[in-house]
Amino acid sequence: MRLLPLLFVCLGALKAGTPSNWTGNYSPCNQHARLLGRDHIDLGVRLSTANPVLARQFRRAMDFWASIVDLSWHEDDSEDCAVQLVDGEKTLFETQAIAARSQLPDRPDFQGWIAFNPRNQLSKIDLYRVSIHEIGHLLGLQHSTSPHSVMYGFELDDQDWLDTTDIAVLSAHHKLRGEQAGQAVRIVKDAIDSFDTRALAHRGWPPQRSTESEAARVKPKK
Ligand SMILES: [Zn+2]
Repeated sequence: MRLLPLLFVCLGALKAGTPSNWTGNYSPCNQHARLLGRDHIDLGVRLSTANPVLARQFRRAMDFWASIVDLSWHEDDSEDCAVQLVDGEKTLFETQAIAARSQLPDRPDFQGWIAFNPRNQLSKIDLYRVSIHEIGHLLGLQHSTSPHSVMYGFELDDQDWLDTTDIAVLSAHHKLRGEQAGQAVRIVKDAIDSFDTRALAHRGWPPQRSTESEAARVKPKK
């Protein structure tokens, strides 16, 4: 049970007309343009966080993306990085409920930065989910309207899928590993596998695109 609703909205993505990425006093990532590559991409990842639990889940999230996109990655604690995880300054987050923010690759001042909000204490699984979400933005994905998608902007409980729409959008930006074409992918296999399968069926698993209003599908917080 969470006491606060968790938002992992990247606020910049919601403000119409925002011309530039957020910035901060962080080291540059001089190889950030590699995130725009359409063939195999090799990414140096700089983990500039004081939180070892977050660093571990971020590594897992990078491994997840490397299983979907034709990319490889390695840790690079230098300005030759393409991606950098940072502990965000308080001013980057309008409320404590904002878990993290990423820069968006189609905007000026892009450095491949992802800032987590140190004030927001997340479980390991949520650090993993939010890491996948934010790296998804770096790879060109925007927010999904499906509350089952990991790219949904408002965390509820069920964002355990990279759905077929996400995969299709991703394929427009990057070369995917062949086996992913057209298939939804579970991001949290271990957790999902431990769920009661009848409960999953009751929720309508696997997720389907629906014509009902998204608002009607938003469930109250537990
Ligand atoms: Zn987001």
